[in-house]
Amino acid sequence: MYQVSEKSRQRFDAMCALEEVKKALAFIQEDERRTLDEQKELVLIEAPTGQEEERAKVFADKFRALGLTDVHIDRGGNVIGVRPGTGNGPRVLIEGHLDTVFPFGTVHGVEERDGFLYAPGIGDDTRALAMLLCVIRAVNHVNLKNVGDIVFVGTSREEGMGGLGGMKDFLNDNTDIDISLSLDNNDMSDIVYQATGGETYEVNFHGIGGHAFGAFGKMAQPVHAAARAVAKIAAFTVPEDPKTSFCVSNFHAGNDAGVHAIASDATIKFNFRSDSQEELARLRDKIFQAIEESCKEETEKWGCDTITWDKTIISEIPGGNQDPHAPLVEAAYLGLDYLDVGPRFRASGCTNANVAIAKKIPAICMGRAYAPDENSKNILNHSIHEKFPMAGSYKAVQQAFMMLVTACGIEGKLSPLVDKQ
Ligand SMILES: [Zn+2]
Repeated sequence: MYQVSEKSRQRFDAMCALEEVKKALAFIQEDERRTLDEQKELVLIEAPTGQEEERAKVFADKFRALGLTDVHIDRGGNVIGVRPGTGNGPRVLIEGHLDTVFPFGTVHGVEERDGFLYAPGIGDDTRALAMLLCVIRAVNHVNLKNVGDIVFVGTSREEGMGGLGGMKDFLNDNTDIDISLSLDNNDMSDIVYQATGGETYEVNFHGIGGHAFGAFGKMAQPVHAAARAVAKIAAFTVPEDPKTSFCVSNFHAGNDAGVHAIASDATIKFNFRSDSQEELARLRDKIFQAIEESCKEETEKWGCDTITWDKTIISEIPGGNQDPHAPLVEAAYLGLDYLDVGPRFRASGCTNANVAIAKKIPAICMGRAYAPDENSKNILNHSIHEKFPMAGSYKAVQQAFMMLVTACGIEGKLSPLVDKQ
């Protein structure tokens, strides 16, 4: 049973009792239709990973219209807008990602039916962008005297080969961020506070290559060296807890015409992940040791040439751990409880929050939708059939607002969650 500290509870209750917080939560509920309409508007501006420019421009204009300062698109394609604090507070990032997993030409409109919005990308993560705009309206509506600066960001290149690229650029360029809030879970019940780390590599094995019969015994075999490596990796065992995984996902060598040839090169690609940075490092060492040994074995078997190998990193997702009783995590639990949404901790995740957690910035990833039953949970994100449940969706915005206020504090009424470092 998860128990929050008395300090967290008192702080949370004090926040909920504040007039501007109550007023803002009511506003967010009333603003639901406008937020859904804006979500529908934004999803029509397609934004495949790395091609977010159009959506970014529109989003930046919306930031400007809502009165944020220093609105700009940075070198990484992130849309940034600031609401300055009253001073000496933490700098709080709240973000959702601009990109979707769909190529241009996938979205042909938004359908509203049976309580759902239907369109590829409607939830992941277009909803988060609409949520950010609603949060800004709420903050404006109550004229919030936030102590810490709030940095609203639409991040680029989160998905797939983007590899959380926008967030990586942003946090590399903005080392003054003290707290990071991401909006990218399907279901607002989920509180993600840990980050699964993962790496994907391509490894190439090289030899001389020659005739399958004529050159036999005169050279080592790159394909066989690669196969030895895969066999060694296949035999690995990894812990179930912390969850750790490995997968050789590609094996390429030779060509269709060369069925009677010793191919000079072989390529494997593999991915491995872990909820523990230590396990990840251990697995990485084991994999590259297996590859080194395989080349050595194949080379020694024939004793006439040397199989060499090289590696290229394809993607790297940073990971890290965070205390389940960190003040931000406890606040997220209390927020959901307050909204009558059953909180559920997810110890691992692969979202922009990973980048912050790996940098030891207090961070969580929150959800986009209220999904109390199986029907509303079945949203099929990353599919062209993606849908978004509308009923009660304002609650996800209310949670985002409360986490933002708890993080940045209110002048004279609520101290920020962390002291400015
Ligand atoms: Zn996403």
